[in-house]
Amino acid sequence: MKRGPRLVLLGKQGAGKGTQATRLGDRYCITHVSTGDLLREAAEKGTPAGLKAAHYMNSGELVPDDIVLGVVEEQFAEGGMLEDGFILDGFPRNLHQAEELEKLLDGEPLHAVINLDVPTEIVLDRIAGRRVCEGCGMNYHVNMPPKSDWACDECGGRVVQREDDTEEAVQRRLELYEEVTVPIIDFYRGLGKLVVVDGVGEGDEVFERLVKVVDDRYPPEQP
Ligand code: ADP
Ligand code: ZN
Repeated sequence: MKRGPRLVLLGKQGAGKGTQATRLGDRYCITHVSTGDLLREAAEKGTPAGLKAAHYMNSGELVPDDIVLGVVEEQFAEGGMLEDGFILDGFPRNLHQAEELEKLLDGEPLHAVINLDVPTEIVLDRIAGRRVCEGCGMNYHVNMPPKSDWACDECGGRVVQREDDTEEAVQRRLELYEEVTVPIIDFYRGLGKLVVVDGVGEGDEVFERLVKVVDDRYPPEQP
C-alpha cells in the first residue's frame, strides 16, 4: 500500500504557501488540500455555504469555522487521505480548527507542521503584484506574467487579480494572521511538530529546503 507524509503548511498570505504546497503534493504524490481553493470553488458553484463564504472572503475576513470544517471534513470523508498522505494549505487557521484537525486525524499523527517564514514587507510586495488563473489557480506576478497576454500557460484561462487582494483586504488578512493564526504555531511547537523554514529566496531554493525537512521527518525508504 502506498503511504505518504501528513503535512501542514503554515505561513502568511503571500508567503508562497499555495505554490509550494502544490509542488510538495506532486513530489510526494499526496493530496493537496487548499481551503481557500475549496471555498472559492464552493462560491463559484453557488452552494449556500459557498455564497456565505464568498461574503467573508471578499472582505478579507475568516470564513466561519462550521463552513470551513464542512469542506475539510468532506475531503477526509472521501477516504484514503489519512493513509496516502496529504498537505494542508490554509488550514488550520485558528486554535479551534487545529483542535478539530486532531480529531479528524483519528490517531494518525502529522509528520510535520511547517511554518514558511517571510517578513511582512516582502509579502505585501508579493501580494500587490500577484495575479492568478481563473481556470486552474496557477499563480503569477506582474513581474513574471504568463507568456501570452494574461492567458494561463497551463490551461489558457484568464489571469486576473484576486478580488480579495486589494490593499485593504490584505492588511486585514495579515492582522488576522497575527491575531488568530500565530497562536497555533505555539500549539504545534508544544506538540513537537513545528519546523520553521525560511521562505525568502527563489522558489526552487525554498522548495529544496522544504523537501529536506519532509525527507528528514518522513524518510523516503519508509514503507
Ligand atoms: P490567503 O492565504 O491569501 O488568505 P487563501 O486562498 O488561503 O488565501 O484564503 C482565501 C480566503 O479564504 C481567506 O481570506 C479566508 O476568508 C478564507 N479561508 C481560507 N481558509 C480558511 C480557514 N482555514 N478558515 C477560515 N477562513 C479561511
Ligand atoms: Zn490556468
